[in-house]
Amino acid sequence: MTHPEHSLHRVDPEVAACVDAEDRRQASTIRLIASENYASAAVREATASRFTNKYSEGYPGRRYYQGQEFTDTVENLARDRACQLFGADHANVQPYSGSPANLAVYYALLELGDTVLGMGLPSGGHLTHGWGVNFSGRFYDAHHYGLNRETERLDYSEIRAIAKEVQPKLIFCGASAYPRTIDFEAFAEIADEVGALLVADIAHIAGLVAGGAHPSPIPHADVVTSTTHKTLRGPRGGLILCREEHARAIDRAVFPALQGGPHMNAVAAAAVAFNEANTLEFKDYAAQVVKNAAALATGLAQTGLRLVTGGTDNHLVLVDLTPLQIGGRDAATALEAANIVVNSNSIPFDTRKPFDPSGVRLGTGAVTTRGMKEDAMKQIAAFIGDALNAADDPTTLARLADDVAAFCDDYPIP
Ligand SMILES: *Cc1c(COP(=O)(O)O)cnc(C)c1O
Repeated sequence: MTHPEHSLHRVDPEVAACVDAEDRRQASTIRLIASENYASAAVREATASRFTNKYSEGYPGRRYYQGQEFTDTVENLARDRACQLFGADHANVQPYSGSPANLAVYYALLELGDTVLGMGLPSGGHLTHGWGVNFSGRFYDAHHYGLNRETERLDYSEIRAIAKEVQPKLIFCGASAYPRTIDFEAFAEIADEVGALLVADIAHIAGLVAGGAHPSPIPHADVVTSTTHKTLRGPRGGLILCREEHARAIDRAVFPALQGGPHMNAVAAAAVAFNEANTLEFKDYAAQVVKNAAALATGLAQTGLRLVTGGTDNHLVLVDLTPLQIGGRDAATALEAANIVVNSNSIPFDTRKPFDPSGVRLGTGAVTTRGMKEDAMKQIAAFIGDALNAADDPTTLARLADDVAAFCDDYPIP
């Protein structure tokens, strides 16, 4: 935690104290929120760069303001690196985050009121895939597919049947809380059969896709959207990849339809992250994320917890707490008291309310970035088991918190 100029501490000690405390929190807790990670020092340096001062509405070579020599170069680097990393025809790196990226796709490819089909939120889909409280559910005729009740997995023959019935113009695949591999080829066949466009939202698994640890949707989907900050480990931001035929519509949707000036500091940092992701080290990281999730799943199952689908293929594990007779919110609160940070999450066919659902979701992106391997996952599973068993025993939770903080000392954060 070095502060070369000590300027923040001098200028604004209150905010500086928050920043320092958050640094310490991220170092001394086991962060298992599946959408979070640790960006590298290089990514954070680019994020904090003076590109944050620049207005650059438009695209490289076609900007509305002067002074774009270096914004053009850095945005071209980001676009080219994104295309190379994922093998895509075209990349738009300007979306402010994952949700605005999806909004741009709707705007580019649909008319208001068109029929869309996406995974339901309670099954692990994202708000922007047509859920009612979201713009996507309000302005489009949104329908949903869920999971098979027995397998708790995507059921492609059922998805096909729903698609045939509702005749969507666009199908969204991708999820926020699905622990298994997504068969993008099967989705593409379904989309083909009903004449729908296919959008794959890889916000969660982008790092696995980039690192070769999950099949890529690029050969199968018309458009691929993502965040840059989850398993991909870049700055907060959004990314749209598409086939050449959609490039113009996508670019015009992002700017000028939906956004003004891009956050060029985030674009520069995304360029850094795409470069980092195009290395053998990152391939190892992506493979280790998956191995760690499998080891964590095994460890949790051994402590007697029930896992949705029985395990995982990717970076995340969904735990069903019903047998423990503890709600997701109380479980997450108890774990936090033990310095283990997770989020409560609905499980398939949950009978409890979304704000206090029956499960917790755990992901291994951040802990893998810290250098933790399978043996560490075993230890984490044991900590979790102990904390859940002591959920109403503050003394035991406090003792566990000390043990967890000591354990974390061996794994410095970037
Ligand atoms: C996280 C996520 C998003 C949204 O990203 P934000 O950056 O939070 O807006 C979109 N789609 C999926 C599947 C996600 O998991």
